[in-house]
Amino acid sequence: MTDAHDYDAALEIAGKHAAAWNAALPDRPVAPVVDEAALHAAFGAGALPDDGLDAVATIEQLAAAADPGLLAQPGPRYFGFVIGGHLPATLGADVLTSAWDQNAGLHVMSPAAAAAEDVAAQWLLDVFDLPRTASVGFVTGATMASFTCLAAARNAVLAQAGWDVEANGLIGAPAVRVLAGEEAHSSVHYVLRLLGFGTARTEIVASDDQGAMRADALHDALADARGPVIVCAQSGNVNTGALDDVAALADACASSGAWLHVDGAFGLWARAAGPELRARAAGMERAQSWAVDAHKWLNVPYDNAIAIVADPAAHRAAMGQAAAYLVASERRDGFDWTPESSRRARGFAVWAALRSLGRHGITDLVERCCALARRFAEQLAAADGVAVLNDVVLNQVLVRFGDSDEHTRAVIAAVQADGTCWVGGTVWRGRAAMRISVSNHATTEDDVDASVAAMLRCWRAVAD
Ligand SMILES: *Cc1c(COP(=O)(O)O)cnc(C)c1O
Repeated sequence: MTDAHDYDAALEIAGKHAAAWNAALPDRPVAPVVDEAALHAAFGAGALPDDGLDAVATIEQLAAAADPGLLAQPGPRYFGFVIGGHLPATLGADVLTSAWDQNAGLHVMSPAAAAAEDVAAQWLLDVFDLPRTASVGFVTGATMASFTCLAAARNAVLAQAGWDVEANGLIGAPAVRVLAGEEAHSSVHYVLRLLGFGTARTEIVASDDQGAMRADALHDALADARGPVIVCAQSGNVNTGALDDVAALADACASSGAWLHVDGAFGLWARAAGPELRARAAGMERAQSWAVDAHKWLNVPYDNAIAIVADPAAHRAAMGQAAAYLVASERRDGFDWTPESSRRARGFAVWAALRSLGRHGITDLVERCCALARRFAEQLAAADGVAVLNDVVLNQVLVRFGDSDEHTRAVIAAVQADGTCWVGGTVWRGRAAMRISVSNHATTEDDVDASVAAMLRCWRAVAD
């Protein structure tokens, strides 16, 4: 029999471990040396025991088993991929979301989850300065956000051509031209595949030297376009941080009536920055849909992202579902705007991020991360044998060590083993590069300086 005491004890022990984890984040080696066999053994690899364990003992075992295999990913010196941490308010809200355990699929299941999503949606449209009448869905990641947006796009461009794709599918449908930049994120190609477009059919539009789609190339590609067209733009190249000039792309799309989608997984937050960066993101409101993560730059715990569609009818037609027992209402039913039915109430943590930061706090978060990225670039570029490969316009820095790919790869491996910070690698314009992404609210100038020192220490060891 479970009684209230079991919950109290489980929450207390989980809270204790969570607090210890958070407190240790700045000091533990960012990446552990993992003994895979020991890790599996600690989780009890083998047959599931016949007898259960009480909650406290289970959580104790989980915490002890997981610890050696955890990365200090929400910590201030994790610069791999594009990964945010968590704010006190978003972590707290996420814990409550689990405790409340609301199914946010339907309004009738949780008016509170629906209201939090409604309010957060309106705040997000304000922060991004996107059409206030746009519809918003709360999903797991930018991948599913783009899936949602591009499903709406598919619905709308085919409806315009007189085809009901929801009823009749794609077989026999008018051909849809899909265009994406040379530097589109891999998830966009994945999503196009899921939506039945196929990767090989996607027309690739040339990028400039920073990886932004060239508006003149898009203009030429659409010169004599007839019929349904979808264009996938990007705000925030995963390597360079480059923002497509969406205003120019919207101009190039205008005569064809193309649906313009923006993958703004992290770069859409440039819309919330100060005037200079905001100017670079001008015109973004002219697109038809936008995908943006909350778990990256907004520092909401995984997983959390937002799909925004200018035409709510197209959004709902693509994502809504009906069944006799599902009592849909005029109020927000989460499942009308997302590819899920039963859903975690992700809006609570987004609401908490926006409320705790406020408009100024969001601007400050974005600006601070960009300034720290420039600090990385300035210090590294000043060192012998080190080159910064990109224009540091956002929170991303690409670094090259020495004159061979091997040098750079050896430095990345040495930095990962050193444990001061964590960075990954990439290939940019055919050359190996270290990727630095500053996406965590907790990162300070001291964290950057300590990380640069570790990188240069590793570089000197590799160069000798
Ligand atoms: C991270 C990222 C994605 C994918 O987002 P998920 O949250 O991992 O689904 C898509 N596009 C860009 C530009 C990204 O940086």
